[in-house]
Amino acid sequence: MAIILHRPRERSTGSISQRNILVQQWTRSIWITTNVLSCDDGAMLNAKNYTEEYKTSNGLKESSQTQVVGIKFLLLTCINTFQYSYLLPQVPPFLSSSRVDSILATQSAAVLMDRMESSEALRNKCAACFRQFNRMEHLVEHMRTSFHSVHEPMCGICNKHCRSFESLREHLIGPLPKQECKNIFNVQGCRFCLAIFDSPNARRFHQERCQLSSGLNARLANLSLRDNGTIDLTSARDPQVVALACKMVGGGSDGSLDLCGRICIVDENEHIVFQAYVKPPIPVTNYRYETTGIRPEYLRDAIPLRQVQRKIQDFLCNGEPMWKIRPRNGRARILVGHGLDQDLDRLQVEYPAIMRRDTAKYPPLMKTSKLSNSLKYLTQAYLGYDIQTGIQDPYEDCVATMRLYMRMKSQTHRREDYPLASDPQNRNNFASWRQSELESMTPEELLAISRSDYYCWCLDA
Ligand SMILES: [Zn+2]
Ligand SMILES: [Zn+2]
Ligand SMILES: [Zn+2]
Ligand SMILES: [Zn+2]
Repeated sequence: MAIILHRPRERSTGSISQRNILVQQWTRSIWITTNVLSCDDGAMLNAKNYTEEYKTSNGLKESSQTQVVGIKFLLLTCINTFQYSYLLPQVPPFLSSSRVDSILATQSAAVLMDRMESSEALRNKCAACFRQFNRMEHLVEHMRTSFHSVHEPMCGICNKHCRSFESLREHLIGPLPKQECKNIFNVQGCRFCLAIFDSPNARRFHQERCQLSSGLNARLANLSLRDNGTIDLTSARDPQVVALACKMVGGGSDGSLDLCGRICIVDENEHIVFQAYVKPPIPVTNYRYETTGIRPEYLRDAIPLRQVQRKIQDFLCNGEPMWKIRPRNGRARILVGHGLDQDLDRLQVEYPAIMRRDTAKYPPLMKTSKLSNSLKYLTQAYLGYDIQTGIQDPYEDCVATMRLYMRMKSQTHRREDYPLASDPQNRNNFASWRQSELESMTPEELLAISRSDYYCWCLDA
C-alpha cells in the first residue's frame, strides 16, 4: 500500500486549496484518485487538520463535505492499517507523464506524510500488536482491553505480539504473512514451535528434535496393558503433574449420551499411572467400536464408575482437602488434559480450575477465532505427528497433552512479580492509574505495566 500526495503547482488563494491524492491499494489492485484538502501554506500536519480547517472555511458544498469525511476515513484507515511506503516506480499506467512529474514534485508532501506518521500515528502505535490509533486515548482504551504481556506468543523477528500461536503462524507463514518476517522464517524458523534460529543449520538441528513421533512408548504401553484398577506409583516418584484422558462410549436410546468407557492417567515421563476400562452406571447402547475399540466383554467386569471416581479424586487431591487446594506449594497435583470439563464431568470428579491445564482452553493454543483446536490438530501442528487414526487409545491422548503442556511450560518468559491482570497488585490492568497519566505514557511504558488475563503455563516452571 502506498499513498502518494499530489500537490498541484498552481495554488488557489483561499485558505484552503485542493490537492489530489492517489491511494494505491496494492493488494486489491484498485486505484482511487480523488481530491483531498490541505492548508494553503502546505503545512499538512495531519488528516484531522484538513477536515477541521475545511469545515471552518466558507461556501462549501455538501457533496464536498461528504467527500472530506470519506477521504479522512480512507486516509486514516490507510495510515493506521498499513505501513505505507512511497513507491514511485509503481505509479498506475493511466497517469500521464506530466502528472507523474507533478507527483515527483511532491516529495515534500511525502516527507510531511512521513513526519505525520512518526509524530502522530507512531506515537499511538501499540508496542505489542503494532496496531495504530488516531488518538492516544484510543490506544489507552485498546491497552485496557488487550491484556498484552510478555506471555503472548511473539514473532522472533519483528517482536509483534500475537494472541495465539495460530495467529503467529499466520503472521509468519500465511495466507497474508508479513513478508519480511516470512522470508527469514522460511530459512531460519522452526515450523513446529515457530522459534527463529541463527542459521539454517541451527534450525535443522533444532527442528529434528522439535518434531516428535508417537513411537515406541505408546506401543509398549499397549503391550503391557496395566488394567488391574490400581494406581501405580512404583515406576515414578510421586508425580506433581499428571495427564488424564477418557474414551467415551454411548448411552441413552440413540447412543448419543457420552459415558466414560476407558481411562488413562500418565505422569510427566509418560509412564502409565492408572489405566482401566470403566463400567458406566447406565447401560451402554453404542460401543463406538471403530474409534474406541471397546467391546461389550471389556466392560462386563470392568471397575464401576463410582470406584474409579473415588480413586481419581483421592489421587488428584493427594491428601489435600478440596477447599484447601492452593495453586502453589500444596500437595494436590496439576491435572493436564484436553477438554477436561467434559472428562471430569463424565467421571463425576470435581477439581478446582486453578489446578487444571487444559490444552483446549489455553489461549496460546486456541484458534484466532477463540475456539478450541482439536487435540489431533495440535499434535500434528506443534509436535509433528499424527494421533487418533483408527482406534483411539487414551494413552496416546495423555502423552500428546502432556507433551504440549511441557512445551508450553518450558517457554522462557520474563519473570514478573505479579503476572496476572487479576492479581490485586495490578488492580485489574490500569485501574489504579489516572487516564491523564496513561495518556502521557509512551506505548512502551503502557506495555510494561500491562498484564496477562490468563495464567501462562511457564509460571508452573
Ligand atoms: Zn495491541
Ligand atoms: Zn509465560
Ligand atoms: Zn514478525
Ligand atoms: Zn521447534
